[in-house]
Amino acid sequence: MDRFPVFLDLHNRQCLVVGGGKVAERKVDSLLKAGAVVTLIAPDITTEMGIITSGQNVQYHARPFVDSDIDGQFLVIAATNNPSVNAHIASLADARNMPVNVVDDASVGNFIIPSVVDRSPVTIAISTGGASPVLARQLRMKLETMIPPQCGELAGITEEYRDIVKKHLPEAQRKTFWEQALKGPFAELVYAGHVEDARRLLDEMLASYPNGQTMGEVYLVGAGPGDPDLLTFKALRLMQQADVMVYDRLVSKSILDMANQRAERIYVGKEKASHAVPQDQINDLLVKLAKQGKRVLRLKGGDPFIFGRGGEEIETLAENGVPFQVVPGITAASGCSSYAGIPLTHRDYAQSCTFATGHLKDGSIDLNWAQLSQPNQTVVFYMGLTGIEVISQQLQAFGRSGDTPAALVEQGTTRNQRVHIGTIATLPQLVKDSGVRAPTLTIVGEVVQLHSKLHWYEPQRHVIASEFSLDHPVAPVEV
Ligand code: SAH
Repeated sequence: MDRFPVFLDLHNRQCLVVGGGKVAERKVDSLLKAGAVVTLIAPDITTEMGIITSGQNVQYHARPFVDSDIDGQFLVIAATNNPSVNAHIASLADARNMPVNVVDDASVGNFIIPSVVDRSPVTIAISTGGASPVLARQLRMKLETMIPPQCGELAGITEEYRDIVKKHLPEAQRKTFWEQALKGPFAELVYAGHVEDARRLLDEMLASYPNGQTMGEVYLVGAGPGDPDLLTFKALRLMQQADVMVYDRLVSKSILDMANQRAERIYVGKEKASHAVPQDQINDLLVKLAKQGKRVLRLKGGDPFIFGRGGEEIETLAENGVPFQVVPGITAASGCSSYAGIPLTHRDYAQSCTFATGHLKDGSIDLNWAQLSQPNQTVVFYMGLTGIEVISQQLQAFGRSGDTPAALVEQGTTRNQRVHIGTIATLPQLVKDSGVRAPTLTIVGEVVQLHSKLHWYEPQRHVIASEFSLDHPVAPVEV
């Protein structure tokens, strides 16, 4: 190991910063946050530094550095824009065995300041030993996205309970108790901001440990339209910690690959003609799994509350007292329109947008066609392929011009995306000619003409098999 990492307690310690620019400003700011008492030496300072130094715990001297400035300091940071002044300060401090940092130059001085992810009391410091500050920052950003903002609060509550757990459980059981608590619903409740419920759950767990069966939880998570980059941080986190995942056909293969590989996987995929598992059985399955104490990930394509029957699933959970969380996802209309370069609204063409289902019910689609045929609006049809003739006819019958532009977006946002442009009148023929397969979204309205100018996403089609085929046979029917 090239550098030895430590976390210093700087409360009420004298720290010296030399330099008045932007970099010095950040250092003074973090030193103050860590409770230090700062002396700042610089002939000039930035306006922001002026604000910082007007606060408590910082003394500013508007003059150049003199050697005696380091007397009595616990730690020194040289942050001037003059390398020889910085080097001089470093050698003085080093000769007195003081920790001294020279900003942006790890070869001078005796310590470097890491990139920090601050979830106090949880603090993560990253260093590349000065080799690549940019890489350190990128790693920090990755960690920032992976570690929930409430992680510090979780640590705080854990600390509160440490002695209580010590009293209740013999030493041999404590570690496994905490392991279970910190990866289970207790932690999730804290992350979701339900601190009191989290405490109650911890009390219950403690009272019944190790034999008691506590209730699991269901995460109803929207996986977005296909591109894994469109997952939310929360979706990804829950995907990675679930014990069992219940998913259907609209979740893309690349996204499934990102879920916890050890989780049990239950496919309840639906195809329009043949429901693989009837909805009420799915609802009951979720309840059963949660009652076994499992963290159940119910992963759905797009957004669970948009044509996703997510409402029905959590109704059953609520009736059975199973705790659940709902994580929104990017719905197909948002994802597909963005990746096809078709803004759903536009000041010149569409002042409103409607999401409708083109799902056939007894051969007809039960929609308010008069309303959908109004001008100056965009209509997005989910599940519109099999009903495309009806959609085309009805819109025209209720007065929308047959020339109105229309688009089919197939496997939107994935590497297999295809966009086909036509008009309301030509839609049925377009479906036949293009050979599109589910999942396909139909967008109707003047905004579609913007595609020719705004399309930007160029997928490498046919490189891989369908993103949605999974290991199940894909019948060319609608999902
Ligand atoms: N809850 C989902 C929609 C489920 S209904 C959501 O919010 O997106 C299923 C329909 O969504 C499909 O028939 C298709 O019309 C549309 N769809 C979902 N993902 C799609 C994708 N990647 N590309 C095109 N259409 C998609």
